[in-house]
Amino acid sequence: MLDRFIARFGTEKIAVLHSKLSIGERHDEWQKIKEGKAKILIGARSAIFAPMKELGIIIIDEEHDSSYKSETTPKYNAKEVAEKIAKENKCPLLLGSATPDLITYSKCQIDRDNNLKSNLVNTNNFQKDIPKLLKLTKRANLSKLPEVEIIDLKQELANGNRTMISLELYKNIEENLKNKRQTILFLNRRGYSTFIMCRNCGYTAKCKNCNISLTYHSYEKKLKCHYCGYEEKLMTTCPECHSDKIRYFGTGTQKLEQEIHKQFPRSNYY
Ligand SMILES: [Zn+2]
Ligand SMILES: [Zn+2]
Repeated sequence: MLDRFIARFGTEKIAVLHSKLSIGERHDEWQKIKEGKAKILIGARSAIFAPMKELGIIIIDEEHDSSYKSETTPKYNAKEVAEKIAKENKCPLLLGSATPDLITYSKCQIDRDNNLKSNLVNTNNFQKDIPKLLKLTKRANLSKLPEVEIIDLKQELANGNRTMISLELYKNIEENLKNKRQTILFLNRRGYSTFIMCRNCGYTAKCKNCNISLTYHSYEKKLKCHYCGYEEKLMTTCPECHSDKIRYFGTGTQKLEQEIHKQFPRSNYY
């Protein structure tokens, strides 16, 4: 971000504030801002408190990000502080996001509803505390979105593919391997199986402390709670009905890893 701004406006006009600066560097930047030499300030959360003069606009990018809220004392939400500062300076506050915070988004919906009711569009909303929804309908530089394909695994199963890798995915990984290219597989579950259930009585293995499903970790052969770290030994019989119908469901990264190893035995993976 800094490089882009420097390339466009030069070093002199730009100040930077973030936690990695030394006290000396921070002092220099602060002074640059205070004396009005810096026309543009780029900074992380606490930069909102910088003594900018003649504020023209405040831009908070990726406004949905929870890091704008400070959890350490003094607790504050940079977005709320920005709203107040913008109001005092009578300047607009621009909140940017492709996936807006629901609170921000709903406030804009109120604006839309009000406009529908009064049948007039108010272009000076920033002075009245009501956020206005501005939509970007085209991507920057008109760049193309990556191609996305959704594969129905139920259909794969119906076609006789019982693995977790669809035929399309298999072909693509195969092609990448052939062309010496890499593949990243994302899966938002750690462990091997994400829940353990008795097919006889419906018992599910849960954490004693948190009441959430335990995850099976195949390396340690243990059931683990991902919240509190509670562990249990692997079970083969049901602790409730003592049947041996205990089954492991769901897919974690370890299971996927095993599957990849099976289907692409000569490739390297991490
Ligand atoms: Zn049971
Ligand atoms: Zn737990």
